[in-house]
Amino acid sequence: MNLESIKAVQQLLSQPQKIVIVPHKNPDGDAIGSTLALCHYLVNRGQEAVVVAPNDYPKFLKWMPGNENILNFEKQNSQAKEKIAEATIVFTLDFNHLGRIGQMQSVLEDLTVPFVMIDHHQAPSDYAEIMYSDVSMSSTCEMVYNFIEFLGDVDKVTSEMANCLYTGIMTDTGSFKFRSTTGRTHRIIADLIDKGAENTQIHHKIYDTNTPGRLHLLGCALKNMVIHDKYRTAYITLSQDELDMYKYQKGDTEGFVNYGLTLEGIIFAVIFIENKEEGIIKISFRSIGDFNVNEFARTYFEGGGHNNAAGGKSDRSLKETAVYFESLLENHQDQLQA
Ligand code: 5GP
Ligand code: MN
Repeated sequence: MNLESIKAVQQLLSQPQKIVIVPHKNPDGDAIGSTLALCHYLVNRGQEAVVVAPNDYPKFLKWMPGNENILNFEKQNSQAKEKIAEATIVFTLDFNHLGRIGQMQSVLEDLTVPFVMIDHHQAPSDYAEIMYSDVSMSSTCEMVYNFIEFLGDVDKVTSEMANCLYTGIMTDTGSFKFRSTTGRTHRIIADLIDKGAENTQIHHKIYDTNTPGRLHLLGCALKNMVIHDKYRTAYITLSQDELDMYKYQKGDTEGFVNYGLTLEGIIFAVIFIENKEEGIIKISFRSIGDFNVNEFARTYFEGGGHNNAAGGKSDRSLKETAVYFESLLENHQDQLQA
């Protein structure tokens, strides 16, 4: 974040403000962790602040301190709209174009108040007056820690904030193993533990609270996996019928895509999940090394994300999507073949 932006934020926060903090749709650990941590920080500074999430999110994220005060734009629509209408500043975290917030897009586009973006995805749009955008960052939570440090307040990180920030850094780095994990990431993590992040408990709450249904669904996903050794690619499909059979709940498929990358020699892993209600196939892409899934998702599946983790969607049927995907592998054989 440059000095000018820091000064601009300091200036804004020197006055009492009504602040709305927004994560992306289908928020993950980093989105919820970063928005809640920032909310705690702003409230502790004497500001009025609230997190408004575009829609619901998995149960395994709902224990974070302050979670009870998050407004769900779909479920608490009038209350959420009221807060947005009163807002004097909007912070958008963990996304960088307004197409990522679903129904909230048109409501936020109508606002004239200043926007502050804190985000680590590629190719930010220019809706925010103040931008802290850095694709080298492991997570938005790491950036919120930096943001608080820029404002000279790192000693004001409470145990509530530490627990939220630890969670988002942990989930966005695949428990500190992705390439974006740096020495500084670990130093921040160490400081968060010193400030009260209950690391063992957090790992347990996020990763060890499975239902039998979810494990059975994982079994189904692994059985469905198609492996193309030639293209060092593995992909999974899950149909709506399969999801229903195992009583799918939001978040149940989180992390499934990564299993493809645990196969020796595989560098590109994908999961296609049918969503009958929305009439789309939701797709997650993951890679190891130089194969750029952000570009792949952008080019073929109306998506985006990071070099090694991206998402997108398809309007075709599940089968047709898989067939189309297979045809694309050939186009990319130069990058995919060993
Ligand atoms: P996931 O596969 O876990 O849903 O998302 C992986 C990464 O890609 C995340 O950083 C997420 O923000 C991004 N992403 C997921 N879906 C989309 C999408 O439809 N559009 C864009 N631009 N990014 C996405
Ligand atoms: Mn993130």
